[in-house]
Amino acid sequence: MRKTAKFEDCFAELISLPSVSCIDPAHDQSNRGVIDALANSLDALGFVCEIMPLSDNPEKCNLIARYGDGEGGLALSGHTDTVPYDAKGWDTDPFKLTKMNGNYYGLGTADMKSFFPIIFETLERMADVKFTKPITVVATADEESTMSGARAIQQANKALGRYCIIGEPTGLVPRYSHKGIILETILLQGRSGHSSDPALGNSALEGMVDVMNALRRWRSELQAEYHNNEFKIPVPTLNLGRIQGGDSANRICANCELAMDLRMLPGMEITSLKEKMHRVVKESLAGSGLTVEFSSLFDGTPPMQTSINSEIVRMSEKYTQTSASSVAFGTEGPFFNDMGLETVILGPGDIDVAHQPNEFLQIDRIEPMINILSKMINHFCEGK
Ligand SMILES: [Zn+2]
Repeated sequence: MRKTAKFEDCFAELISLPSVSCIDPAHDQSNRGVIDALANSLDALGFVCEIMPLSDNPEKCNLIARYGDGEGGLALSGHTDTVPYDAKGWDTDPFKLTKMNGNYYGLGTADMKSFFPIIFETLERMADVKFTKPITVVATADEESTMSGARAIQQANKALGRYCIIGEPTGLVPRYSHKGIILETILLQGRSGHSSDPALGNSALEGMVDVMNALRRWRSELQAEYHNNEFKIPVPTLNLGRIQGGDSANRICANCELAMDLRMLPGMEITSLKEKMHRVVKESLAGSGLTVEFSSLFDGTPPMQTSINSEIVRMSEKYTQTSASSVAFGTEGPFFNDMGLETVILGPGDIDVAHQPNEFLQIDRIEPMINILSKMINHFCEGK
């Protein structure tokens, strides 16, 4: 394996390249700068790089870079995007990597641009090792918004290896499962009219009361049916998060919209849950004369569960000397698992500082992560 730029130079360059992804187009940016910088570094290390623009938005790209031939091997994956930022909340320039107080500050330091220079540094130190199985570095677009990058890789069914490490911020603790999430809106349409005579209209707001009660009963049923003690909140949750309807106290409400999220446990499936939710809502409105429309704020993140007995989980426990556990946020892991890569989430940053002003990575996490990664690469790619 050949040499690439110094760790800090590479890290600083990635932080300097804006790559915000957001469902709101006003904040959404291309990630091409980050992808090109990563491809340069990986090319210099001797990887074969494929830049994969997303078909519905070619400004957004994934990168799949492969070193070595053969079946199996290990994929190291991270997302290239960050969440939007509020510069006023930052004490430093979010796009300038700043070393201070034992930390590296900058947007995406913990979540999760740091994973890439750590991979490069690890590989450089292993320059003399010969591998019998391939190493694949995967860099995705849009993890923070729609996960469209990981979805595109799944749809293309790219050969990425047998096992996968995603370097999301877990504070060096291996994670093998998380809940899934859907964000849904329910729009009820009735008829407005003067409030003095109920027969003049059909209240969507009153219909929504029935819908919400039905959803709360359904939530109790789900929580009675599904339970998993590996999670801090061991049951599926359903939050009624936003309601909007009506315009005046003396008018019958013509339409009312409810937004909710549902966080499901491994073993629960997005499509059938949505269908069931639609049935519950429609049944609660039977005979009301109201019409209902459903929409999804995004396609949803499936729950993730890699077997605790998978070699990737067992080896990550061995090399971190920490028991694997579940994690409270969603990742691209389920898409990789679905492609047959047994996946563990394991990275140096802390989730508590991610998506926050003054995001940072503790410098003393870097060497341990390099150490863990080199052992994992050696194990799964059979370094000799
Ligand atoms: Zn992340």
